[in-house]
This record gives sequence, C-alpha cells and structure tokens, in this order.
Amino acid sequence: MSFEIKDKDMLARIGKLKTKSGTVETPLLFPVINPNIQLVTPSRLKENFGFEAVITNAYILKKRYENKPIEQGLHKFLGFDGAVMTDSGAYQILVYGGVEVNQAEIVQYQERIGSDIATILDIPTGWKVTKDHAAETVEETLRRAKDFFKTKTRDDILWVGPVQGGRHLDLVAKSAAEMGKLPFQIHALGSPTEVMESYRFDVLVDMIMTAKMNLPVERPLHLFGAGHPAMFSLAVALGCDFFDSAAYALYARENRYMTENGTWRLGELDYFPCPCPKCSGETPKEVMEKAPKEREVFLAEHNLHVCLAELKRIKQAIRDGRLWEHLEMRAHAHPALFTALKKLKSYDNFIERYSPTVKSSGLFFFSSVGLARPEIVHYRNRMMERYCPPENTRVLLLAPQTRKKPFHKSEEFSKIRQVLQRLDKETSGKTHVCFYAAPFGVIPLELDEVYPLSQHETALPLDWETVEYVAGQVSDYVRRTDYETVVLLHDSQHWGESVKERCGKACLENGIAFEVVDVKAEGSKNILTRLEMILRKHLSE
Ligand SMILES: [Zn+2]
Repeated sequence: MSFEIKDKDMLARIGKLKTKSGTVETPLLFPVINPNIQLVTPSRLKENFGFEAVITNAYILKKRYENKPIEQGLHKFLGFDGAVMTDSGAYQILVYGGVEVNQAEIVQYQERIGSDIATILDIPTGWKVTKDHAAETVEETLRRAKDFFKTKTRDDILWVGPVQGGRHLDLVAKSAAEMGKLPFQIHALGSPTEVMESYRFDVLVDMIMTAKMNLPVERPLHLFGAGHPAMFSLAVALGCDFFDSAAYALYARENRYMTENGTWRLGELDYFPCPCPKCSGETPKEVMEKAPKEREVFLAEHNLHVCLAELKRIKQAIRDGRLWEHLEMRAHAHPALFTALKKLKSYDNFIERYSPTVKSSGLFFFSSVGLARPEIVHYRNRMMERYCPPENTRVLLLAPQTRKKPFHKSEEFSKIRQVLQRLDKETSGKTHVCFYAAPFGVIPLELDEVYPLSQHETALPLDWETVEYVAGQVSDYVRRTDYETVVLLHDSQHWGESVKERCGKACLENGIAFEVVDVKAEGSKNILTRLEMILRKHLSE
C-alpha cells in the first residue's frame, strides 16, 4: 500500500492513498450510500460534486441484494467508478444488537464484490456501557482481527482494523496498540457517533489522541460516523484522514441545514448563508414550499456542498500552515468544541513531535488557548534542551517585548543598545540581552529573527494565563542558567507584577542579584542613566 504524505500541519496531512480504483487525496470524506435510498446518486456525487470515494454497507448489500453486487461488481452495481469503501455491519450490531452473518462470510463477501477498502466485522463498544462490556468488545474485535489474516484471500483490497474501547481510554490504548501490530493498511476509530451526538467533543479528543498515540502514526486513520463540518478541522488536526458522512442525508430528512458553524432548521432561516449552486438560486421560504422529497434532495445536496467546501478550506489551511488558526475559529461555533480545543493542551508534546517546525506563514496568537500550539511547545522544548547563554556573560538584561519585531530593531531597544555599546568598551560584553515576550517566553537577542519569534501577531492586552506562562518561562530560564545578576526592565503596564515577582523569587532562591528598573515610572533619560549605573555596578564587581 502506498500512503504518500504531501503536506502536514499539526497531525493533519494532505496525503495520496493508492486504491485499486485510483488514487484519492486525504483528508477525505466518504458520503454514505444507502443502496436502498439514493437521495443523490453515486455517479452524481462524482460528476457534480467531485467526491473521489463513497462508503456503503456490505451487510445491507448482502442481506438485500445477495449475489447481484457480486455478479456486476460493486462499482458497476453502485454506478461509481471511484474508490468504494465498505463497512461490515458493525453499526447494525450497535443499533440492533446483532447481525445474521459471521466475520468469515462478510470478509469473503467484500472480497467477492470487489471493495477497494474493506472492514472486518468488529464489535462496536458504544457509549453507555460498563467497563467489563467494553473490555469484551475490545477482546472480541482483536480475536477477529487475528483470525481475519488467516482467511483473507485478496491483497489488493486495503483492510481496515478498527480500534474499540469507547470512552475507556486504557482500553482504547490497548486496542490500538494490539491492532497496530497487525498488518492492516488503515485503522478506524469506532463508536464516536454517540460521543458526538452528546456533544462530548472533549471525550472525542481523548479517544482520538489515545488511538493515535498507540497506532503506527504513518497509517491512515478513519473516524467512523463523523459527519458534521463544524468538527472536521478538529478531527483532521488530530490526525484523522478519513470520515464518512451519513449526516448529510439524515439531517436533510429532518429539514436541518448544515453550515461550517453549526446547524439550522430550515424553517428558522430567513437567508441562506451559502453560495453553493443550490442556495444561490433560492430562498429558504421557497425551499420550505417544495414537496418533501424535493426539499430533502435540496438539503442533502447543500449539506454535501458545505462539507466539501469546509474540507477544501482545511486543506488550504494545511498548505498555508494555518490549521491552528482555522481550528480556533471553528471552535467558536460551540462551547463544546472550544472545550475540546482546550483539551489539546494535554497532548501538546505529542502534537508538536509530528508538526512541521518551519512554515511559510507567521502565526496569530489570540489567547492562552493558543499556548498549546506546536510552534510554542517546540520553542519551549528547544530552549530547555539545547539553549545555553553565550559564554562569559555575567549579567542577564531582561527587556519587555516591543510592538516592532524583531525586537532588537525597535526604537526602544536602540537607546538601550547605546548604553550597552558604551559599557561593552569597558567591560568586553558581559551583558546578555533577552526579551520576555508573549507567547514564546524568553527570547535571546541573538535569536529574535529566527522563525517564528518575529513572525507572529499577538492580541493585546494579554490575558492572565498568557502573562503567567511567560512569567513561568522567565523564572524557569533564570533557574537553569548561571548568571550572577538579573536586571529586569519592568513594564507593569503590559505585564502587571507577575514577571517581576516570579523572576525575583527565582533569583532569591538561586543566590542571584536581582535589580528592577521600572520603565514606566521614570522619564526615558532617567531609566537609561539608572540602567547604566546598575549594569556598571554589577559588571565591575
Ligand atoms: Zn448551500
């Protein structure tokens, strides 16, 4: 199998997956085709919408049509020449409590109809179940996964190894680790539908991340039943490459109109906030007056357009290196999504490990939620692991960030530089200048042009958590270096007292002399005179 990754951002990837019916690009949405009810025909999905793949249910096909899809071949039967994925009936087990086929039969059936991507008959864990029951579903799914490799006959099909465990994360971890040892080409995370229906996107983050951290990271991951565009960016950013959506049709049946920011009832809309080919020619009132079937098709097609448009925006955001910004924007659609975004902090080191370190664009920092983004985590880790101050420096001069970047080119700093140049002649450069700046923390002068330390825009005033973060970074830096003196240019207007207090505490505990020059309290000439006096005193000691 080849899954070739073209571009990455966070854990998201634009990739090319080769199937026997052609190559598809991830992140990829598979509209669910119910062979019994076709609101939008598969051929129309390809021709008019550009869907490269669809998913249908092998269990329903077998039960209802038995040999016809075998004789015609699945692609001809559906009228779709792109990639076709089949699910095995696991969802029917979850809903109806059992299916009338065994795994060997459903595997063989998928081989005979010629699925491009096919699924073993896993046992979905579900949401409101006891841990014992959850553990049984994991064990049975694993047992079937191992059995499967003894019976499969076709190697040109990409086989999906589902991960179960529900909200029991230790079980998800076990399931993922064991599934990952088996030679599946694709993995899937089972039973998230009920989690999403109850708006527990924070639990979904835990489930996806636990699976991701225990699976081979290079294999594509499918998120079963994730059909709403408002959460696509969240799932993609966490490394889900495939989704399937029955929601576009289910919502249409209930007169529900999807947008990338949530769902509206058709009857509540006065305007269509969408430029798709359906919405641009009609008003909500006109659509309400249509016959039910016609209205359902209208909504299903609009819903599909919205899903596709959102996926394209996400791909462009990955290309631009701006997926975090996109994610943060979408998270404002609902507090439950924002709660999920906050959860990413728990996984920031893992996300950072697989994120690109250099990008073509700068970053926008809005609030402390952004402290979990990989660029900031990356800088923090690198500073901690690799950075040493220049040799022979005795005094650390900590200056506040300036509006202009890089900081060393700012007007404020040019005055300080004059002082330092005068002193340098006498003391041969023993003062080291670092800036304290949001959102990165401590930025040594010699690094302030390194990406992304100057390539970011930060919303002001800083929120409390961001100030605390920077203060913590300052204090950690002072503790792990060995300056004799720290001189803080204290900017109480933008930073309050936190940086001063925590820096002072670190100095006190480590026997470092600590001097504070308040940059707002005195005239600028006085500040410079006082700074020069303090530096001279400590450098001559
Ligand atoms: Zn529309």
